[in-house]
Amino acid sequence: MKIGVLALQGAVTEHIKAIEACGSEAVPIKTAAQLQDIDGLLLPGGESTAMRRLIDYANMLPALQQFAENKPVFGTCAGLILLASSVEEEEAHIGQMRITARRNAFGRQIDSFETPIAIQGVSDHFPAVFIRAPKIAAVEEQVEVLAVLDGDIVCARDRHLLACSFHPELTTDLSLMNYFIDMCK
Ligand code: GLN
Repeated sequence: MKIGVLALQGAVTEHIKAIEACGSEAVPIKTAAQLQDIDGLLLPGGESTAMRRLIDYANMLPALQQFAENKPVFGTCAGLILLASSVEEEEAHIGQMRITARRNAFGRQIDSFETPIAIQGVSDHFPAVFIRAPKIAAVEEQVEVLAVLDGDIVCARDRHLLACSFHPELTTDLSLMNYFIDMCK
């Protein structure tokens, strides 16, 4: 199993370590051509606006869109924003997952926090780290909601596409990463 990590900006190294800890090969992805060679792709957290600029600079948007049409993609935090088919108050980016993202949805006072959450089919108390996190403001009917925090959707799956608001790579709990790697098999 070869899992790519989009390596233009953000929490790349942490994801590579987490994927390797799950026993899979992790490949940093910097060009469209490298997408040919992987079984699934992880879009890390970071800053979605900066990441989108770098995607355009590397001329990767069409290839990422095509990849996400058929192959598994996991968007974490800023990666969730990139994957969403709709982003409030801006144009969508890769756009293949049928969710609406709301950026920085948890407010300034509670910029960053950690809390245990239940993720359906994954864990009853996953240590979720939120850093200026987006939430999923809406999902289309076919999308499975996997986790909710205080009424807000924070993890969902749409066919071969997975997204979460938080940073699984910043914990030692590999259950969600293992769930994604199973989706790639
Ligand atoms: N606030 C960032 C954005 O809008 C996401 C934060 C993160 O990835 N930790 O892109």
